[in-house]
Parts: sequence; structure tokens; C-alpha cells
Amino acid sequence: IDAVDTRPDGRGVHAFLHVDRDGALADAADSDARRARGEARGPLDGVPIAVKDVLTTRGLPTTCGSKILEGWVPPYDATVVARLREAGLPILGKTNMDEFAMGSSTEHSAYGPTRNPWDLDRIPGGSGGGSAAAVAAFEAPLAIGTDTGGSIRQPGAVTGTVGVKPTYGGVSRYGLVALANSLDQAGPVTRTVLDAAMLHDVIGGHDPRDSTSIQQDWPSFTEAARAGASGDMSGVKVGVITELAGEGWQAGVMARFQESVDLLVKAGAEVVEVSCPSFVHALATYYLILPAEASSNLAKFDAMRFGLRVTPEGNPSAEEVMRATRDAGFGDEVKRRIILGTYALSSGYYDAYYGQAQKIRTLISRDFDAAFADVDVLVSPTAPTTAFRLGEKLDDPMAMYLNDLATIPANLAGVPGISVPNGLAEEDGLPSGFQVLAPALADDRVYRVGAALE
Ligand code: GLN
Repeated sequence: IDAVDTRPDGRGVHAFLHVDRDGALADAADSDARRARGEARGPLDGVPIAVKDVLTTRGLPTTCGSKILEGWVPPYDATVVARLREAGLPILGKTNMDEFAMGSSTEHSAYGPTRNPWDLDRIPGGSGGGSAAAVAAFEAPLAIGTDTGGSIRQPGAVTGTVGVKPTYGGVSRYGLVALANSLDQAGPVTRTVLDAAMLHDVIGGHDPRDSTSIQQDWPSFTEAARAGASGDMSGVKVGVITELAGEGWQAGVMARFQESVDLLVKAGAEVVEVSCPSFVHALATYYLILPAEASSNLAKFDAMRFGLRVTPEGNPSAEEVMRATRDAGFGDEVKRRIILGTYALSSGYYDAYYGQAQKIRTLISRDFDAAFADVDVLVSPTAPTTAFRLGEKLDDPMAMYLNDLATIPANLAGVPGISVPNGLAEEDGLPSGFQVLAPALADDRVYRVGAALE
């Protein structure tokens, strides 16, 4: 990590915000001892992992990529983190991210951007660019990300790694610092589909501490990935989403996508085109619902409870302390979304914006229901383009948001999705991703089809 991540010229990958060298080495030694006694806690005991800095880690800083949480050390572990520890995975450290997971490039981190290991002048995707870059740069074999609108899958696509967003409620959100509670899910970031499945088996399952956690027995995702690896797709019906193609989609990305669709046909799958007409409104819907939820969640950063406190000169009131702290502690993108969200929720506009967005969200879910009545999985490219250059879209929020076109519908409907590496686009030699979506609770299907494409 020292060699790749931090370079004196400032052009390292910068995947990590914090490396827990001593803790990880001690945990690795414990794991070695367990293995020597024949008491390994499972197949991933001793395999180190990087964790996105939006999940709380007892005794380790958790900043969410924001100045407002600088210096905050949580007193408890997120359930995902606790399960990693119980399964014996040493935690290498915390990975860089867009501030409070808002962004598609990791350039909105208050601690400087992460760079794409494939080309250091390009973005690693976002908001979980740190986790994806750590895995792509071989700094960590496994990582955890969170996906609210694509922040696991889109970084996966542009760094050539595997990223999975589980069914909403499949992985506990306890200790995940909420961006948008109705959309957030934590999930695996890995180099192979089998690795992702094994990691999902460790972190997933019911948690009484999360009221939205699903109470059911899940199948083994490891077995689903192993079954898919045989490559036989006979009996599987695949729908290609017609709305996720066309203008603005990079030719090389589309060409690779079509090749993989052809491969699925060769492997015995039946492939049809499926229209999901409401998906064209997904972006607008998401960018009302997300800021609404985020603006409410961020109210807790009030200069009293966590992290930073800026006290103006003189004898400031509590409100003046709060204002100065939030002004200094939040970056531009966070402020933009707080303004958008509070506006969409304000009494005069609630029905026109937030209420309307909730209705369209229902239509998007119905599109999925109708599609999955006919096909087993839906597929699309994960992102419209390969990695763009640092700075290229930073001053144009709309251009930044458009990267999430293909990933957002899954979050709005709560369905699971995977992005698998899909070869390099011809025009720039950069990685592209293939997305597989399945009905809620059928995460095993994304592993089966994903593994067949590897
Ligand atoms: N790019 C999206 C956004 O900015 C996705 C965020 C996420 O999944 N955390 O909101």
C-alpha cells in the first residue's frame, strides 16, 4: 500500500484515507495462529479487506470523505464490519470516497481525489472510487463499498473490478452512515465473481439492528457463482434493456456489451429485448429523492454531536457555531444537495417534486415487475462511458449525474445488480462493465450469470 498509494509526487492512487498497519498485522497473525490450529473461521479467514470510509469502525477514524467528520473515531462497528471481523478478515484500512457518497468520480472527497490505476489522469468512478481502485491496483484483494445510485457498480465498471449491489435489505445498514436510507446498500468489491459471492455470504443476512433487514434464509451465493462458472446458460432468459443504449453511449462500450450478449446466446441463454419506459425518468426521480433524504440525514452534523466544531469570534450563539461549522465542514456538492433536498421537501413544493418523484419511483418498480414476469435477468452496460479525465466533469453537475443512468433504477426498486469486467473499449483501451440485474431476493441469479461471463 505504501508503495502504490502514496507517492511523493502526489500522483499515487490514493485509494486509502487511513491504513491500519498495526491492527491488520495483528489480526493477520491471529488468523495464522488459528489456521495452524486448524480452527479457521471460514474460507476468507486471514484474507485482508479494505472498507469504504462510510462504514463505522470501532477505534478507526470514519470521515465519509468529509471535513466535518475529521478526527471522529466511532465507538462501535457497523454490522458489516463486525461480520468481517468475526469471519477473520483483517481490515487494512478505510478507503477514499466522494463526500458522504455524493458523486461519480471520488473528486468530491475533502481529502483529494483517488486516481484510476489504469490511467492516473482518470477518475476511478464514485462514490466508492477508493475501494475499487484499491482492488484494481492490487492493494487489497477484497473491499467493501456502498451503492445508493451506483457507487459500487460504476467504479467497478471503470476500474475493471467486480461490484455487487445486493437486494435492499439483504445486507445490514446498521453503522452505514446514511446517504439516502431507502436506497443505500453495502456490498462486495472484488476481482472475481466468486470472491464477491464468498464475501456476500459473510456480510449478508438478517440483522435485528436494522429495521429494514430482510428476515429469511438466503441461498449460498458461493454455490450460485460456482454453478455459473460452468458457463451453461441454457434455460436462462435474458432481457436487454432498450432504454439503456443510444445517444451518449460510447461506441466501444456498446461493442463490448454486444459481444457479451452474443456470448450468452452461445452459452444457451435466450435473449430478448425488453422496454422499461419509465427508466428515462429514473435520473430525475433519483436526484429529488436522494437530496431529500440526504438533507434530512445531514442535519445531525450540527457541531455538537460529531467531529468538527468551528467557533466564531466573540460570544457566538449555538446557531452561529452551527452555521460556521457546516459552512467550513461541508463541500460544494453536499451543500448543493442540501439546498435541493430541503427545497423539494418544503411545504409549497412537496407535492410537485418529492411526491411526484415517489410516484415515478413506483412506475419504475412496476417496469421491473413487468420485465421480470418474462425474463430471469435484465442486462445493460454498467456505465455509458469508460473513465473520464480528472476535472472533466467537476464543474458540470448534470454531466456528472448522467454517469448513473444505468445503475440508478436498481436502487429505486431495491433489486440486486452486479457489474462484471467486460473488456477494454477499443477507442481508449479502458475497462468497461456489464451489468446484470435480477428480481429482489434473487441475488443468486446475478452471481450465476456474472460468473458465466468471466
Ligand atoms: N453517483 C451517485 C450520486 O452521486 C451515486 C452515489 C452512491 O451510490 N453513493 O448520488
